[in-house]
Amino acid sequence: MPDIDPSVQSLARAMFREFYSKHPISIDNLTKREFGFGTFDKKIAKRHIAFNNMESLNRYIEANAPAFVSSSPAFYENPSGRPMEAKGWLGSELVFDLDATDLHLECQKAHGTSWVCKNCLHEVKMEAFKLIEEFLIPDFGFSAKEIKINFSGNRGYHIIIGSDSVLQLDGAARSEISDYVTGHNLKPESFFPTIADKNARLQGPRPNDPGWGGRMARALVTALNAGEPALQSLGISRPMARKMYLNKASIVMGITTGNWDKVSIPKKDEFWRKVSESMTIKQSDSIDSNVTKNPQHLLGMADTLHGGTGLVAKSVQGISSFEKFDPMKDCIAFEKGETFVVANTKEPLIMMGKEYGPYNNKKVVLPNFVAMYLLLKGFAKLP
Ligand SMILES: [Zn+2]
Repeated sequence: MPDIDPSVQSLARAMFREFYSKHPISIDNLTKREFGFGTFDKKIAKRHIAFNNMESLNRYIEANAPAFVSSSPAFYENPSGRPMEAKGWLGSELVFDLDATDLHLECQKAHGTSWVCKNCLHEVKMEAFKLIEEFLIPDFGFSAKEIKINFSGNRGYHIIIGSDSVLQLDGAARSEISDYVTGHNLKPESFFPTIADKNARLQGPRPNDPGWGGRMARALVTALNAGEPALQSLGISRPMARKMYLNKASIVMGITTGNWDKVSIPKKDEFWRKVSESMTIKQSDSIDSNVTKNPQHLLGMADTLHGGTGLVAKSVQGISSFEKFDPMKDCIAFEKGETFVVANTKEPLIMMGKEYGPYNNKKVVLPNFVAMYLLLKGFAKLP
């Protein structure tokens, strides 16, 4: 997190307090959850806090105007108990934390990871769709209704499932789910039994096979029908994509019958490993930051403000409205008023459909939502 000047902090705190006085928050299973609160320097500065009812939570938030509000996906008998073992774990929602920085995008190499551009937000949304439509619904059998989507408040999404069927999953089962969607330890040999044998015909999955095998078969057929760029986006080299596209009809025919040898591919195992990698969900590998694996983590709470952007970590109303969801429009908190700042940005910032900047250390009067976003991200100062 950038070093935020005390004058910016007190301005932000006043705006946060006013926002919360008009937008009380709510959450299900409130009394079973642990809460945590952060400052502008530290996302979780206090934790092990519990509330008896929604009013006392809202009173606390209005009084303290915290920079970050987090709650546990876990339910406890005694959520304020410490150490963790004293809380009496009852169950936990299943959570996936998707962040644009885990996607290692080309645009990030140019603008750095603290800046979030249109492409970053688009790509992380596609990742969320991929997780939901290619894994959670078909492979795990969750219904669209069971899947909650929340904007993280910065550059990602939290995908949350709170159904009874997941609450009791232990750490090992959660790790297995995370490994499955991230393709961790995925072995091409398990879908291509003859892959190691150079002389054998390459047998492989069919499009209607369950799980990873079917997904690979479907992805290849879809890409073949879409053309060479689609094949390249699966990690296939340009000359190979060309060759495959020219033999499209016979390859598609082959795959539908499980015969994957309609085109000769050198280094088959490396090739298919690359293709499967392009279909995995990118999540942080570190156990500390992987919320899916660790059910004791706290997670930024839906509909609260994010202290690093001043945006609302809004909950999306159903998968059908996710397509059109635009955090830079739908998650604006400080719609009214303007602030005088000195802004320093390299790329234009697009909020509420309007472009702001780039600014070269320029004194400028900006709408509060733009000013706060730049101030909290460290791309502007108060004069
Ligand atoms: Zn970007």
